[in-house]
Amino acid sequence: MEPFPLRDGAIHCEDVPLPLIAREVGTPVFVYSSSKMRSQARELRAALAALDDPLIAYAVKANPNAALLTTLAAEGLGADVVSIGEYRRARAAGIPADRIVFSGVGKTAAEMREALAGGLCQFNLESLPEAEMLSDVATAMGRTAPVAFRVNPDVEAGSHAKISTGAAHNKFGIPIDQAPAACARVRDLPGLALQGLAVHIGSQLTSLAPLEAAFAKVGAMIAELRAQGHAIRTADLGGGLGIRYDPSLPPPPSPNDYGAMVARATRDWKVRLIFEPGRLIVGEAGALLTEVIRVKPGPKYPFVILDAAMNDLMRPTLYDAWHAIDAVAPKRERVVADVVGPICETGDTFATSRSMERVEAGDLMIIRTAGAYAATMAGTYNSRPLAPEVLVDGAEWAVVRERRDVDAFLRDETLPPWLERRD
Ligand SMILES: *Cc1c(COP(=O)(O)O)cnc(C)c1O
Repeated sequence: MEPFPLRDGAIHCEDVPLPLIAREVGTPVFVYSSSKMRSQARELRAALAALDDPLIAYAVKANPNAALLTTLAAEGLGADVVSIGEYRRARAAGIPADRIVFSGVGKTAAEMREALAGGLCQFNLESLPEAEMLSDVATAMGRTAPVAFRVNPDVEAGSHAKISTGAAHNKFGIPIDQAPAACARVRDLPGLALQGLAVHIGSQLTSLAPLEAAFAKVGAMIAELRAQGHAIRTADLGGGLGIRYDPSLPPPPSPNDYGAMVARATRDWKVRLIFEPGRLIVGEAGALLTEVIRVKPGPKYPFVILDAAMNDLMRPTLYDAWHAIDAVAPKRERVVADVVGPICETGDTFATSRSMERVEAGDLMIIRTAGAYAATMAGTYNSRPLAPEVLVDGAEWAVVRERRDVDAFLRDETLPPWLERRD
């Protein structure tokens, strides 16, 4: 489904005209389509229907907004969390404890304690020192922690370097050839119950080949571990499936292509498979709605200066990411322009030499495909507000996070006593 259709001269989110949201809430503002999220979740579930009771654990870090999590919880998704904050968000959204997987390379003892007390499907361990810490935590609590080892299969994901995680030089997982020794050690540690392996090689993958190569290594390792007497019952295949940012490029593999590959690659594993999709579920469901402040003449192309900036959407400056940028009410006149924000950094650039609709001061634009790794990475650099978030469902819409501006920042800041004395 198309979450942001152009209808009657203006882009809508589902049935809500974006100019209405801009007028009522102000800009910049993130707008999300409930139907698109649901249809993505259902498409993935259908693509994995041939598997025996897979757990689809939404990667909360892609977008942790409570209203989105609640929408996805109602679709039956679990959660992949990487901090106790995300764990609490998942539980608050009604996601059952036994559908939560705790990933991350730097879990603290306090985080382990709280998640173990609250319950979870499994901790995905990334090192032996981490296993030893969890063993101490669990035994002190008189509990047994269900664990899987995240292995690093040493494959190149073929994505941007900053979102590739499965090569030997990346910080993630234990080298897969060390898994037998690590699992043997875990068997000897009290308070831990090894139940599986996990792998996640990166994000925004546009080819299935590196995933399939990683899964083949995991399959071989499951057989080896079983031969050594380990009862392997789960295999967590991570997330990473890419979405379509640039409609002029070939589309990434579909959930159906992915599901068929997984079914083939895991045919005789005899485990419960876990998936951790983030971007795939929410990425295309969101857009950043922004207003043109002014158009400034440039040496070659004009600069379209938006009221959104890199603090709202970091992906272009962080990952050289390409986002489609469209006028909300197109005039049907094309220009070439650089699209920038107001922040005092050259990196505050959304697009260069972009062929786009002609816009002028006061016009609305949307930056598309901003549902994942967007609002969640926002900051307040240049004392800019944190943009609000709006959730749409059909013809209904609501603000699901208020704008947080400098009044709130000043309330959070205090003067030390020596600066308060004014005598
Ligand atoms: C970020 C992350 C994911 C989600 O990746 P997507 O590309 O958004 O699907 C899944 N698992 C782990 C361990 C992650 O770090």
